[in-house]
Amino acid sequence: MAYYDILLPVPAGGVYTYISHTPLSRGQRVRVPLASRILTGVVLNEAKELKDGVKYREIAETFEDSTLFTDQFLKLIDAMADYYVNPPGLTLSGTISKSVVESEPCPVPVKKLAAAENLRLNPDQQAVYESIAADHGKFSVHLIHGVTGSGKTEIYIELAKDAIAAGQKVIYLVPEISLTPQMVERISNRLGFEVPSYHSRHTPKKRKEVFWSFAKGEAPVLIGARSALFVPAENIGLIIVDEEHEQSYKQEEAPSYQLRDMAVLYGSILGTTVVLGSATPSLETMHNARAGKYRLHRLLTRHAACMPAMQTVDMKSCDPIDHIISERLYDELSATVQRGEQAILLINRKGYSHTLYCEKCGKTIHCPNCSVALTWYKSRNVTKCHYCASEYRTPHCTHCGSTLTRDYGAGTERVAEVLEQLLGIPVLKLDTDNVTSQSKLSKMLDDFRDGKFKVLVGTQLVAKGLHFPNVTLSAVLNLDNMFSLPDFRAHERAFQLLVQLSGRSGRCEKEGKVIIQTYSPEMEIFDMAMNRPDDFYEFEMQRREAFGYPPVGKLCRLVFSHSREETVHETAQEVKRALASMPSALKVMGPTQAPVYKIRNKYRYSILLKSPDAALLKRAIHLAVTSFNKLGKTAVIMKVDRDPYFFM
Ligand code: ADP
Ligand code: ZN
Ligand code: ZN
Repeated sequence: MAYYDILLPVPAGGVYTYISHTPLSRGQRVRVPLASRILTGVVLNEAKELKDGVKYREIAETFEDSTLFTDQFLKLIDAMADYYVNPPGLTLSGTISKSVVESEPCPVPVKKLAAAENLRLNPDQQAVYESIAADHGKFSVHLIHGVTGSGKTEIYIELAKDAIAAGQKVIYLVPEISLTPQMVERISNRLGFEVPSYHSRHTPKKRKEVFWSFAKGEAPVLIGARSALFVPAENIGLIIVDEEHEQSYKQEEAPSYQLRDMAVLYGSILGTTVVLGSATPSLETMHNARAGKYRLHRLLTRHAACMPAMQTVDMKSCDPIDHIISERLYDELSATVQRGEQAILLINRKGYSHTLYCEKCGKTIHCPNCSVALTWYKSRNVTKCHYCASEYRTPHCTHCGSTLTRDYGAGTERVAEVLEQLLGIPVLKLDTDNVTSQSKLSKMLDDFRDGKFKVLVGTQLVAKGLHFPNVTLSAVLNLDNMFSLPDFRAHERAFQLLVQLSGRSGRCEKEGKVIIQTYSPEMEIFDMAMNRPDDFYEFEMQRREAFGYPPVGKLCRLVFSHSREETVHETAQEVKRALASMPSALKVMGPTQAPVYKIRNKYRYSILLKSPDAALLKRAIHLAVTSFNKLGKTAVIMKVDRDPYFFM
């Protein structure tokens, strides 16, 4: 008989001790009783200390094929829990789904594909490839900073081939798995087998198959967003993080974490190569590269294509059609369509209009449950709240009760409608609202590629990694609203969006053009995006240094929420008081009402912790967590968001 520590997916806790009559090994799956439930957990180790007077319970069941979790995977969970100051149980449950952990192994064979396409790297690619390959077999992080279309993907593929040939597994992370069917296909063709992708839109059965095929089966590569990093497998030899700057790598729901950072952390635990790639690296990553923590590789030219010409249109000095489209852009659009080529237009808004107003009292129409303006969808004749997802047939003013409303400004729906009238052709609309399923999205992208539509209008989704040979014009209708967000990364994001969007245009032999409509063309960021992208890092770092923002300073955001405003505020105050004992190198800002101060009828207050010293910040987070727990206000939620990206 022996005692073992078992890790359980219990959000508030995690590690519990049980009795076993048979010897167990680390990483084995077991089923154990907790209160009145039976839970599936993972054996960590033999219990180091036992508490007097505790009556330990017995393990209920061990799985037949029970080894799943590797030592390194468990170290990753442990390191994540430690860094983000979360219970290990929350970290486990947030990274790997219960149904998968409990499932029987069901790997499927790898499907071989006909003759793998071969392609020779050009000299620039070859140099980068060789330099990364030379580091194989030890922990190293590489940043490939290469302009859009410079052939980063081809380098990943060559590195993956080497790892596979050495009998190793490869994790290939992409930010937006829904946009990747064409990419998965391309990589599969190159590698000569069907690469499984891990995907939240897959059926549960398919997800399990993919999970087990990589974890225990013969699949040597797994492509996916987030959860793909958390499929435990032996012998992982390479982790690729494509478009490392992408915001969607940040998981917002608890346990919040930054996937790119976790990939690097995992790489250090595995002792393996991690490759980050981007045309617009995040400031954090550039900072690490400059500091010598990551090795920087540049690709300065597109493979067999040139960079598109970019220009701004000053919206103040023209009279845009329907307040949406400048004459300049309209002319370019018509010419593009007439040449039989295609265009991608970006507007930063979903729905039909920007805002709904009350005709009687002039106030903005808000969601009754959230302090957020509603968005009108003309096509379905509903208004929708983007925070709680409630829909209303007849929205009414929360101030005066009137149902007479008027709308203002344009979203994707309206732009598409205006363009259809102007150009007399159907326009394809792409945003997270109409992309409801993977098959629907694939069909839309196929239709666009096949030329059934000449014009694609969408939200930021359209700036991300799409590759259409016939697109020669891309345009931003308006992103000025980004600059007024309470978010220190607003400029970085706008810059990335502009450069990425330019990457969608003129990908092949045909010359591309990019038009940016703005009310403030004098802003330096436009000139940088158009003419001197390499200056952006220094420019933005000056601002970050001045304010102590990341990557110079480190942040943690604490968000308190509860249905009674007073309770939230008091709780946040108490936590702030507890933090008063910290040294002055830790700045405590707030508590203040969050910019969106009510979501789903829960009031929200936030505290921002800032320090140049990561260790000090961590001590402060620990202090905040202990003092919050001591308050015993179990109905109040305190979200700990270290390295936050979301400030609303
Ligand atoms: P990135 O990932 O940097 O955006 P890609 O790898 O997608 O760039 O390459 C852009 C285009 O150039 C793709 O169509 C790709 O097939 C092509 N390409 C890249 N490298 C080569 C090469 N060495 N030989 C032929 N075509 C290439
Ligand atoms: Zn709402
Ligand atoms: Zn009103």
